[in-house]
Amino acid sequence: MKPAILIVEDEPGIADTLQYALSTDGFEPLWVATGEAALARLREASPALVILDIGLPDLNGFEVFKRLRAFSEVPVVFLTARADEIDRVVGLELGADDYVAKPFSPRELVARVRTILRRVAKAAPAQPPLPFAVDAGRRSIRFYGRPLELSRYEYGLLKTLVEHPGHVFRRDVLLDKVWDTSSESLDRTVDAHVKTLRAKLKAVAPTLEPIRTHRGSGYALAEDLPAALP
Ligand code: CA
Repeated sequence: MKPAILIVEDEPGIADTLQYALSTDGFEPLWVATGEAALARLREASPALVILDIGLPDLNGFEVFKRLRAFSEVPVVFLTARADEIDRVVGLELGADDYVAKPFSPRELVARVRTILRRVAKAAPAQPPLPFAVDAGRRSIRFYGRPLELSRYEYGLLKTLVEHPGHVFRRDVLLDKVWDTSSESLDRTVDAHVKTLRAKLKAVAPTLEPIRTHRGSGYALAEDLPAALP
C-alpha cells in the first residue's frame, strides 16, 4: 500500500506541484486547503505524514499543529514562507518533524519526506498484534474476531484508544477528538461511554480489562492483551 501524505496548503498551484511530485514518487497524496479541514481529515484517518503550510486562511499552521498533537503523533513537515516562521519552527523542538522554506524544490521535499518516514519506521517499537480490528469504512470494530455493537461515540472512543495502545488520553482530549460539539462536553460523558464500552468488551472477554483507567489522567488501551481469547 502506498503511504498517504496529507498536504495542507491553500495555494492550489503549490498543492498541485506537491501532489504530482509525491504521486510520481510512490506516495498517495491527499489535499486539503484549510486547517479545520486538515483536523477533520486527521480525525478520520491517519496518513503517514502531514505537509503543513503555516499561512492558512483559517487557523495558522502552528495552531493546527498544536491541536493535532492533542490526538496524533503523525510526523509533520512545515512549509514556511518567511524567516520569522522558520525561527518559530526551529524553536518548537519538533523532534521527528522538519520544515521546508518556500520556494522549495518538490524533489527535495519528497526526499525529506522519505528520510522522515524511514526515521519514524526505525524508531517505532514493534507492536504486539492487538485483538482489535477496525474497519473505518463500516465504522465497526471486531474484538477477538467478534463484531461489537457500538454506538457512534463508543466507536470513536475505542478506535482512538486502539490506534494508540498504551497512550494515556485525557478526558478533555477524548471529548475534543470524538465528540463533534462541545454541548455535551463533560468529563462524565466520557466516563459513561467508557463504562458501556467496557461492558461490551466484557461480554466477549470476561476476564480481560482492555481499557485501563489512569487515575487523574485518563484512559489507555492495555498493551498486554493476549493474542487469543483466554
Ligand atoms: Ca499559504
